[in-house]
Amino acid sequence: MPTIQTITSHTIDLTLNRAFETSKGRKTTSPSVIIQIALENGITGLGSSTPVEYVTGENTESVLSKIQKASPLLTGTDITDHSKAYETLAEALPSSPSARAGLEIAVLDAHCKLKKTPMSKLFGNKKQHIETDITIPIVSPSEAYEIARKAQSQGFKYLKLKVGKFEDFDRVEAAGKGAPGCRIRLDANQGFTPEGAIDFVNRLFIKKIDIDILEQPVDRSDIEGLRHVTKNLPIPVFADESAITSEDARRLIETDSVDGINIKLMKSGISDTMKIIEICRSTGKELMIGCMLETRISLSAAIHLACGTGAFDRIDLDAHTFTADDPYAGGFASNSHELNTIAARPGHGCFHPQNP
Ligand code: MN
Repeated sequence: MPTIQTITSHTIDLTLNRAFETSKGRKTTSPSVIIQIALENGITGLGSSTPVEYVTGENTESVLSKIQKASPLLTGTDITDHSKAYETLAEALPSSPSARAGLEIAVLDAHCKLKKTPMSKLFGNKKQHIETDITIPIVSPSEAYEIARKAQSQGFKYLKLKVGKFEDFDRVEAAGKGAPGCRIRLDANQGFTPEGAIDFVNRLFIKKIDIDILEQPVDRSDIEGLRHVTKNLPIPVFADESAITSEDARRLIETDSVDGINIKLMKSGISDTMKIIEICRSTGKELMIGCMLETRISLSAAIHLACGTGAFDRIDLDAHTFTADDPYAGGFASNSHELNTIAARPGHGCFHPQNP
């Protein structure tokens, strides 16, 4: 029987190829937990969890301890139908979405290998290509100009800029001038007040900078403020940190507080992500998919989910452009802004080169 026999996990610390700064701080490495599920029949599933404490309250220690907690409950589970394992995880780890995501990815990888199916096919096989934006973290305006110019020459059509302070204006303007053919997505990571966010974007309009969306302008708990910004700007306003669970997403949409939701596997896991997709589809809200500075394993799972469901108009899956020493390979192919799952192996397709 294809039952789960063992679950092992260990941490790795990915080096970033440049410091990554947002309104929440500066990072030069990104720690993740790698999870391996072995089935009784010899198949293994690979998962990865990249917790970001200010987003979900989790860190690598808590993720490791949640994996320890869930392991005995998952052991012996038949994954011919993976939903049983998902239910166990939803019950055991209701408030640990990053830990759950890593385990769900490993379970789904094993399930797909059992079925000899790429994950994208399991998710619906809607698309084989998607186009990602590229993120410009908090850098000097002249650096932003250069990064933007290069991104445009590589074919990127969307830039995502981290903002959140009044003085970020010059950087956005510089990026806009460096890449006049690109549209700009702004991500404030909760940095603005409602009026500050509206002002910031309106001043960019005056400079004729082409803004696509504004993401998480205000504090995650300030739903009233989020609604105010959404109502007073002509561009779509998206929730990121305010939307962790499908219940959060439902509440934001019912109160008319956002135009769209930016989903991340590390915020919601796979099963709750599928619920958020359903909620947004049924209410006509927009969907974006993003990532943390995560490993190729979970990034591949997200790319397969985005391709398979075809549910996302906006894609921000660019972690691989920031990590320097990811030990894993495969999963997807990329050509600057274009990501595809065409040559996918079963599962998310990611593997360790020493253990192909
Ligand atoms: Mn964000």
